[in-house]
Amino acid sequence: MSILPILGLLVPVGILVFILFYLTERNKRVESEEKSKGLQDVVRQLDEQARLIIKTDLALNKVQEELDKKITGLYTLHELGKRINATLNIDDLFTLVTQPLVSKLGFSRALIAIKGGPSSGTILIKTSIGYSMDERNKIEKELNKETRIAAPLFKKTGFLLVNRDLAKIEHEDRLSAIFKIESFLTVPIVAKDEAIGFILMGDVSSYSKVTEGDAELLSVLTSQIGAAIENTKLYSELFNSHHELERRVKERTLELDRLNEELRRLNKMKSDFVSAVSHELRTPLTSIKGYASILMTGKLGEVSQAQKERLEKIDKHSNSLTRLVNNLLDISRIESGRVQMEMREISIKDILDSVVDVMAPQIKEKNISLKINTRTKKDMVRADSSQLERVFINLLGNAVKFTPAKGHVTISAREKDGTFEFSVEDSGIGIPRNGMEHVFEEFFRSDNALDQKVKGTGLGLSLVKKIIEAHKGKIWVESQLGKGTKFTFTIPKE
Ligand code: ADP
Repeated sequence: MSILPILGLLVPVGILVFILFYLTERNKRVESEEKSKGLQDVVRQLDEQARLIIKTDLALNKVQEELDKKITGLYTLHELGKRINATLNIDDLFTLVTQPLVSKLGFSRALIAIKGGPSSGTILIKTSIGYSMDERNKIEKELNKETRIAAPLFKKTGFLLVNRDLAKIEHEDRLSAIFKIESFLTVPIVAKDEAIGFILMGDVSSYSKVTEGDAELLSVLTSQIGAAIENTKLYSELFNSHHELERRVKERTLELDRLNEELRRLNKMKSDFVSAVSHELRTPLTSIKGYASILMTGKLGEVSQAQKERLEKIDKHSNSLTRLVNNLLDISRIESGRVQMEMREISIKDILDSVVDVMAPQIKEKNISLKINTRTKKDMVRADSSQLERVFINLLGNAVKFTPAKGHVTISAREKDGTFEFSVEDSGIGIPRNGMEHVFEEFFRSDNALDQKVKGTGLGLSLVKKIIEAHKGKIWVESQLGKGTKFTFTIPKE
C-alpha cells in the first residue's frame, strides 16, 4: 500500500484542523478583546463617577466651610450685636470691633470710617485692626485727598467686593493699594437714610478670597452699627437736651427766685409806705371830722343853712376818706401778716343774719329781693368771725350797689370737697369781659355808666381776696354783662 494517498488525505485534514484551531483561537481573542474593552469602559465610567464624586465632595466641603464660617460669623455678630445695643456712647461703639472678632470673621485687617469732624465731609477712621498707627493715619489722609476714589465706599446701597488678582478695575486697584490689602470688602454704614461711613474687612494674602457671603455677614454688622449710631446720637441729643433743659430750668428758677425776692421787697416797701401814709392821714382826718361836728353843733357860733350843708359834706367826705384809709391800712396789714386771723368755730347762720341786718336798709331802699340758700349739713365754720363778716358785707354791698332796683340777690352756702363754698349772686349790671381779671386788684373800678355814679374806692374786693387767702381759701368771679355777677369763695373745713 502506497503511503502517498494517506499523505494526500492527511494534508487537507491537517489544514482543516489548523483552520479550525485558528478560527477557534481568533474567536477566543476577539471575545476576550471585547470583554476587556467593556471592562475598560466600565473602569472609565467608574473613574469619571469617582472624579464627579470627588468634585462634588470638594464643592460640598467648600459649601460646608462657607456655612461654618457664616455660622461662626453670625454667632460672633449676635454676641457683638448685644453689646452694640447696650452701648450709649458713640465712641464706645467703635471699640467693640476688636482683633479677635475680626479673626473670627475670617479676616486679618479691618477699618471703620465715619464722616464727621469739623466739616461733615471729613472721613475719620474710628477703628483700625491689623494696621499700625502710621498706616492708619496715611489711609485717612489718602481717603480725604482722593475723594473720587473714596466716593464708592459711601454709596448708600450695596457693597464693594475686591479680589485684586481677579479684576483689574482702576479704582478698586487703587483702593487695594490705599488699604494695603489684596482682597477686601466694604459695606456702608447707613444712619437716617444716609451713608455716614463704611466698614472694611479684608486680607493681605491673595489666596483668601472675599465672597458675597462675607458681604452679607458684614451687612448685618453695619446695619447694627448704623442703628446704634442713630440711637447713641439720639441718646446723646436727648442727654444733652435734658442737661440743657435742666440747666435752663435752674437758671430760670434762680432768676425767678431773684425776681420773687425783689417783688417781696417792693411789696413790703409798698405796704410799709401805704401803712405809714394811712397812719399819717388818719390823725388829721379825725381832727377834720371832729372840728366839723363841733361846728355843726353851733357851740362855736351860729351856723347858717348854707354853712350846715357844707359842713355835712365835709363830714360825709371825711367819712369815706376814713373808710378808704382804713381799708388801705387793713390790706397792707393782712398782706404783711401783721393782722392774724382769729380762727374760731362760728355759726354760718349767725354770720349771715348779722350781715343781712347791717345791709337791710340798702336792700330795702332798692326793693331788692334777697334769698338765702344754705345747704350745709354742719352750720359751723372755722374762721375769723369779724373778717368773714367783712367779706360778706363787701360782696353783698357790691351786689346791692350794682343791681338795679327790684333786682335779685342770692347768698348760698354748701359743702364741697372738704371746703365750705359760699356765693353771692346778683341780677345786676355785670362786669365787662376786660374787667374780670382785674376786679381783685387795688383801685380797680369798672368803667360802665352805673359804676361812675356809684361811690366806691376800688379796694373792697382786694381786701376781700386778702382775707379769704389768709383763711387759705380761694375766690373767683363769674359775670355776664347786663345779666348779673356771681362771686364764689371757699373756706377750708379744717
Ligand atoms: P368798689 O365797690 O369800692 O368800687 P370793689 O373792689 O368792691 O370796689 O369793686 C371793684 C369794682 O368791681 C367795682 O367798682 C365794680 O366795677 C366791680 N364790681 C364789684 N362787684 C360787682 C358786682 N356785683 N356787679 C358788678 N360789678 C361789680
